[in-house]
Amino acid sequence: MAVLPIYCYEHDILRRAADPIDLVDGKADDEVRKLAADMTETMAAFDGLGLAAPQVGVSRRLFILHQNLLPEAEEPRAFINPELELDGEPYIDREGCLSLPEIFGRVKRYSRVELRATGLEGEELKLELPMLAARAAQHEFDHLEGILFVDHLTKGQSMLVRGRLQQLAARTAQGWLRRLKDDTKK
Ligand code: ZN
Repeated sequence: MAVLPIYCYEHDILRRAADPIDLVDGKADDEVRKLAADMTETMAAFDGLGLAAPQVGVSRRLFILHQNLLPEAEEPRAFINPELELDGEPYIDREGCLSLPEIFGRVKRYSRVELRATGLEGEELKLELPMLAARAAQHEFDHLEGILFVDHLTKGQSMLVRGRLQQLAARTAQGWLRRLKDDTKK
């Protein structure tokens, strides 16, 4: 397994709708398994709660959620070709993203979701997720649609982060990717 670099705002790959993953006999092939394993290690190394494939430069419909968000999970779980059903009440809370280092904002999300996806072994996953877990699932699902949390900010909130977004976009335009050593230097 490997810790992969993170593609940051405003890299093109974060702005496309990702392609569905073809399953072989209903299961993930070796390439998808390796990607999921590398993403799991990357998420842990960067201390994230979730990670979507476009964030590591792969425009495919796959994301990982941290075990603390999932019922009865002891390790992070991979969700292939996920679908979300939104439920509950919209509420606002603080959000961040590994592709937007040091940028935070208050985002409105639904308080419950039903997350359906295929697991690596071809198992059908269907989870009811509340609050923070529902928020994370909506955030990661957005990544597969080319949407970032800053797109949901109010005008006032956008103004607060505009300078930092411009700086980050400029670094990314020069080919910069976020690596673990950039974080540990601070
Ligand atoms: Zn994110």
